[in-house]
Amino acid sequence: MRLQEFSDRLKILTGLLLVSKIATGIEMNTKAIKDFIRSGGYAWPGGYPVVLLMSDGEILCADCARENFRLILKDTKHGTPRDCWHAQLPCIHYEGGPLYCAHCNKAIESAYGGDDE
Ligand SMILES: [Zn+2]
Repeated sequence: MRLQEFSDRLKILTGLLLVSKIATGIEMNTKAIKDFIRSGGYAWPGGYPVVLLMSDGEILCADCARENFRLILKDTKHGTPRDCWHAQLPCIHYEGGPLYCAHCNKAIESAYGGDDE
C-alpha cells in the first residue's frame, strides 16, 4: 500500500471512529452485531450507510457480516482479537469517497459523497 493510500485510509478510519463514538456510542457485543446485520447496512432513522469496522482496520458490509456472523461472533466475544473476524464498531459512513468491503469488495458510498480528488 502506498503511503498516500495509507494516509487516506487512516483519515477515513479516524473519521469513522469519531463519528461512531458520537453517533452510536455503543460497545461491540452480540446485540450490536445482530443489530448491524438486521439493519442491512443502513442506519435507522436517517438511512445513512453503515459499515462494520473490524479491529484490523478493514470494513465489512452487512451482507458479509450476515454470511460470517458465527465467525464474527466467536472472535468478537473474546476481548482480544484472535483473527480478522474481530469486530470493532458499526460506523456511519457520512462523507468522503466510497469504502470497499474487505470480503466482497462491494463499494459502500457515503451519505453525502465528496472527496473526489
Ligand atoms: Zn461485503
